[in-house]
Amino acid sequence: MTDPQPLQLPGYAHVYSGKVRDLYAPLDPATGSPRDDQLLLVASDRLSAFDFVLESPVPDKGVVLTQLSLWWFEQLADVVPNHVVSTDVPAEVTGRAVLVRRLEMLPVECVARAYLTGGGLREYREDGRVSGVALPEGLVDGSRLPEPVFTPSTKAPEGQHDEPMPYADVERELGTDLAARARDLTVAILQRGNEIARERGILIADTKVEFGLADGELVLADEVLTPDSSRFWPAEQWEPGHPQPSFDKEFVREWLTSPASGWDRASGEAPPPLPAEVVERTRAKYVDAYERLTGRPLPS
Ligand code: ATP
Ligand code: MG
Repeated sequence: MTDPQPLQLPGYAHVYSGKVRDLYAPLDPATGSPRDDQLLLVASDRLSAFDFVLESPVPDKGVVLTQLSLWWFEQLADVVPNHVVSTDVPAEVTGRAVLVRRLEMLPVECVARAYLTGGGLREYREDGRVSGVALPEGLVDGSRLPEPVFTPSTKAPEGQHDEPMPYADVERELGTDLAARARDLTVAILQRGNEIARERGILIADTKVEFGLADGELVLADEVLTPDSSRFWPAEQWEPGHPQPSFDKEFVREWLTSPASGWDRASGEAPPPLPAEVVERTRAKYVDAYERLTGRPLPS
């Protein structure tokens, strides 16, 4: 939708561009036609905030998202199967692309929250519940929840906002069995993620995953536990009662809503370009998250 001209990749046909990723189908060498069982997922350096794709790309972001997801897929291999087929990809997109099984995606964004903030906090302030789950009194911005809560949302069509989705609607959409499996897996991914991240000084406040179906089984697709799909907080600075510093694009959201940007979120207009230092600090945060979590330098 954003790149009017997605990259041409010999041997692949472009099929779709999301806000961040460009999807290609490999061409069958025998017939020359696109295969329907695989996709090449290419993560660009585009950054979306408040459902807008910003004008300013963030260098290396696509590599961070792809490499961090691959690392997490391995860490989670005993929790959930994933869509990865191969990292043998065209040279033009080395590091930021992955060949995956093309799945039938569930029409639900699976979100789990371990700490309260953002949209979850807004719901809690209204009636003490988040996604229908009653929580203890007295929680504040940044509070750790007694246990992670599944807070699914709709997968809104392009240009619309994802909305919280009552669990009953998820059951109606997927059936009770599949809904329960998606919920339990989402929570298990966040739990395992936090066990690993905490040792490395990061709290994962919340995260969004997407599942596809293959032969009736849920398969983890898209990206997992990245700074685009999750809120990452430095553990040593965690202090409930106010917004937390973060390793993710919360920093960009703060700049966009600050007077410095001159942007009025309610205007419906596209946000302005980011100043060079905001781009550079955002890049540093993404790379820092990758390096802290995996313990290795970002491949160049
Ligand atoms: P949207 O699709 O609404 O534009 P988005 O902006 O988050 O959402 P991107 O992350 O840029 O999208 O693009 C990734 C797209 O690829 C998503 O639509 C996602 O559901 C889809 N996808 C990811 N993994 C798979 C897979 N294994 N099979 C089929 N589709 C997939
Ligand atoms: Mg996405």
